[in-house]
Amino acid sequence: MSFIHSIKFRFTIWYLLVLAVLLTALSAGVYFYLSRSLYRSLDDSLELRSKQICTVPPILESIWQGEFQEELGEIVTLYFYTGNQLVEVSPPGISISLSHEFIYQAINGRSSFTTIEAAEDQGLRLLAVPIHLGIPGLPLSTQPGALIIGRSTKQIDQALHGLVRTLVIAVPLALALAAGGGIFLARRALKPVDKIAHTAEEIEETDLSRRINVNTKDELGRLAATLNAMIGRLEKAFQRQKQFTSDASHELRTPLAVIEAESTLALQKERPPSDYRQSLETISQESRQMSSLIDQLLTLARADAGKEQWNFTEVNLGKLISNLSTDIEVLCQEKGLSFQLGQAQDLVVKCDEARLRELFMNLLDNAIRYTPSPGTISVSLHREGQMAVVAITDTGIGIPAEDIPFIFERFYRVDKSRSRVEGGSGLGLAISRHIAEAHEGKIEVESQVGSGSTFSVWLLLQST
Ligand code: ADP
Repeated sequence: MSFIHSIKFRFTIWYLLVLAVLLTALSAGVYFYLSRSLYRSLDDSLELRSKQICTVPPILESIWQGEFQEELGEIVTLYFYTGNQLVEVSPPGISISLSHEFIYQAINGRSSFTTIEAAEDQGLRLLAVPIHLGIPGLPLSTQPGALIIGRSTKQIDQALHGLVRTLVIAVPLALALAAGGGIFLARRALKPVDKIAHTAEEIEETDLSRRINVNTKDELGRLAATLNAMIGRLEKAFQRQKQFTSDASHELRTPLAVIEAESTLALQKERPPSDYRQSLETISQESRQMSSLIDQLLTLARADAGKEQWNFTEVNLGKLISNLSTDIEVLCQEKGLSFQLGQAQDLVVKCDEARLRELFMNLLDNAIRYTPSPGTISVSLHREGQMAVVAITDTGIGIPAEDIPFIFERFYRVDKSRSRVEGGSGLGLAISRHIAEAHEGKIEVESQVGSGSTFSVWLLLQST
């Protein structure tokens, strides 16, 4: 990625733009503030001087006679009328052109300031004040006049030029330093991003064990921790997938191997019909087991892909269980087990009836499979708050406490060989839990080895 397209660059440019606007505004503020206060103090000094001149007759007299000693850089001029004519009394060699308005304003009694351009780019600040020449020894004592006092603005101009020169150098310099600092800081702050991107590029589908090593407590540290947690989840999912594939192929290989061995053995030589029957029965049983395993695998694959079609309707749980019981009773009788059905209650749940049947059949199949004769299988239904609870209890072999947390995992079996002999695949409970969760329900197990197990299915009741 080029530097121009990087966040660092954009970050620095925005930062510089904001800083440039701020510094320019600040510089302009300083310039105008300084200029105003310098002119104000010059004006104050002009006003003070005008009062001094106007209130001390000997000074006026000396001005009138052209003998007044001006202070350095100062100009004092008098304007007054003789008859109808305006007369100007200026120091020798000094002549400034003033607007008539400026002079007449003062003659008419109003003081005012102005700034004019004098020789060689030098400014002159002028104050015009009204004056009455009622001084003994002066002619025309009754006529109003104007006193103009001017002082050079050279020092102010120099100070302001100096300030501008300083700012013209200082502002770009500050911006250049800020740009350097900005790039450095942005680079430092965004360094973890490079690290994250680098590690992410290195992580391969087959090796998800790597983690991003950014341990800061800021936002990027949090991002890295989130990504690490995500990679962790992916790794686990990937491992589960790998395990599932290897378990599935193993499960399919076993019946296939039996079928192959059985058929090879049968075909080796001529055998009596009863032997062929025996072989075909074995092959048929293995095929059924394989077919049911493939069905379960497909169910789980659809569940994982989120492509299941659910058909939710309102179902009376009591009726559903009574219907199931007829089939289960037959199966129990075949195995020499007794079956008990609790009192049927009219509890209505919103569910996919076929899938809920599948769930209960899985649990009942297990109960029959893992209960030796003589034993009892019982089914009950009751209400707990807003939930309907279906409990399937057997007096079978039970499940060791240490296995209970794992029995809902795919292909997990407490006794692998026993489960296989009994026709189990290790997927029934995984599918059952998935169906319960899809109904916003759950399955709980209580079991004791040698005494039996109870599987309770909790389902949300339809509110009436
Ligand atoms: P399987 O097809 O092997 O029965 P399941 O997923 O249905 O697979 O069950 C997982 C394991 O849980 C079984 O292999 C068995 O060891 C144990 N199990 C399930 N139900 C019962 C039960 N009612 N009594 C004893 N063990 C059970």
